[in-house]
Amino acid sequence: MKSAAEFVTSPTLDRRNFLAASAGAALLFALGGLPRTSQAAAAHILPPLPYADNALEPVISANTMGFHYGKHHKGYVDNLNRLIAGTEFADLSLEKIIAGTAGQADKTALFNNAAQTWNHTFYWRSLKPNGGGEPPAMLKQKIEASFGSVDGLKKELATAATSQFGSGWAWLVLDGDKLKVVKTGNAELPLTKGVKPLLTIDVWEHAYYLDYQNRRVDYVNAVLDKLINWGFAADNLGS
Ligand code: MN
Repeated sequence: MKSAAEFVTSPTLDRRNFLAASAGAALLFALGGLPRTSQAAAAHILPPLPYADNALEPVISANTMGFHYGKHHKGYVDNLNRLIAGTEFADLSLEKIIAGTAGQADKTALFNNAAQTWNHTFYWRSLKPNGGGEPPAMLKQKIEASFGSVDGLKKELATAATSQFGSGWAWLVLDGDKLKVVKTGNAELPLTKGVKPLLTIDVWEHAYYLDYQNRRVDYVNAVLDKLINWGFAADNLGS
């Protein structure tokens, strides 16, 4: 793996130019689906959405996606790249930046932007057009063991999502060999608590306000019934 220094051909090339020069290479890595760790020293990139911006309609509008992905998610990635420039975090993977800044009062901005970059990429993959329905068999079995039924899990997720005070996230996680539902505030995520995230629902107001205004419960139930990507959760369970 090349270091940043090897990529930079001129000592006078500043980071902004370096980022522009490396954007093409970073995009190729992203399209190839390689994990971020394989492109250390390049800028963190905004991964392409796994579907068209209108593919989740009518549950989530293209208008919401335009702001949520194109402004909010992009903003976190841009802030992350600005905040790590020239620091000891510049060449680290997203996960290592999150682990290295969690719970540190003087690194809150960097943690927030790194974690929100990670959370949103995970959220887009937690949804899919024509989602919902029955989980794959092995996941379903585990859901029934922990929550009684798929409906039982959906109720717990909806309760976590609607009872999260203010901004945050509802998650299905694997804790040991048991499935659990947890909620986190703001940019917080289960990765820093030693449990494995399987899927998430964004309950920041920007995720639903254009389409549902204050009706968070309607957004959450529609996501659970029509968009939730059980296959993604099953893949995470097995990986
Ligand atoms: Mn969001």
